[in-house]
Amino acid sequence: MARSHNFSAGPTAVPLEVLNQAYDEFHDFAGTGMSIMEMSHRSPIFRAIAEQTEADLRELLEVPAHYRVLFVQGGASLQFAQVPMNLAGENGSVDYLHTGLWSGKAIEAARQYCEVRVVASAQGTGFDRVPAVQDWQLNPKAAYLHYTENETVHGVQFAEPPASEAPLVCDACSSLLSKPIDIARHGLVYAAAQKNMGVAGLTVVIMDPALLDRCHGFTPDILNYACISDAQSMLNTPATFPWYLTGLTLQWIKRSGGLQVLHQRNQTKASLLYETLDGSDGFYRNPVQPTYRSINNVPFRLADQALEAAFLREAEAAGLHGLKGHASVGGIRASLYNAISVEAVAALCEFMGAFARRYG
Ligand code: PMP
Repeated sequence: MARSHNFSAGPTAVPLEVLNQAYDEFHDFAGTGMSIMEMSHRSPIFRAIAEQTEADLRELLEVPAHYRVLFVQGGASLQFAQVPMNLAGENGSVDYLHTGLWSGKAIEAARQYCEVRVVASAQGTGFDRVPAVQDWQLNPKAAYLHYTENETVHGVQFAEPPASEAPLVCDACSSLLSKPIDIARHGLVYAAAQKNMGVAGLTVVIMDPALLDRCHGFTPDILNYACISDAQSMLNTPATFPWYLTGLTLQWIKRSGGLQVLHQRNQTKASLLYETLDGSDGFYRNPVQPTYRSINNVPFRLADQALEAAFLREAEAAGLHGLKGHASVGGIRASLYNAISVEAVAALCEFMGAFARRYG
């Protein structure tokens, strides 16, 4: 079977073992004569899948026992609105760190619901870093501080969670499960599944129950974290198939050795690529300051931008897919999520070296 090397920013590659298991169970799940897709979300079989998925997620991320884990729809984009709707409080002011395209979108969405203070922005330097902590204008009375752990477009990643007196809210869409994260330092963490932990259609929200009191009346029940939590994420029909596939992916992560092992592998992949970029005598260039370089998404340009179309065309022909940069920044981007092998990244680096020798 021919499987391509897929560097897409998401949806992206799913581990082959997961695809194979889903394929085997597709028509007939565990002798029921039904596909998971055809089963009631309230059936004992689906409930068991849902419970196992939550248990595995809690185990992998070491989620504090009292925290709630919600499985919702609408992608991480819905969380941009759902977070302020639920957590801003009456006349609340909220703090946001602006480190790239996705935190910018979160800020714009929150502005529709409450007063947003941008405590620091890296826009002035082209989103090449996390702004220095001493320059942050934090409001200790903010309803929360929001940050984007990994900026998927700009390739900027926090070295550690920000210190904050206000509850910390994290968009971990492109990094959750690619490395360990200290959930207990956060009031709420959210991520859509289609990058490191599953497929599109499912979004995970992990939250400190202390914040549930804020989820007040004007938020519709279907978007209200307290109502969703009370209904065990089954206030309405959930995305059962993505939930199941995410469950299979979490089991694959456990079999692979868990987050420490995956983190090491992800660091190895990122180092390979950054070494190739930095060792190219300026043929390729990643603009991000080394401390904040992402292990999940690596954007880069060619010094001669006119060569980028040929780069992408020849990469495709060599079986290296999904490398086109986000439309807002152009250039090239390689996403190195959990299901991307070291061998795939080595193949990319080899291609890059050969391309630079040919055109450099
Ligand atoms: N936040 C980040 C950091 C992202 O990378 C993305 C998607 N690329 C989103 C939010 C939006 O996610 P979704 O498409 O699931 O709404």
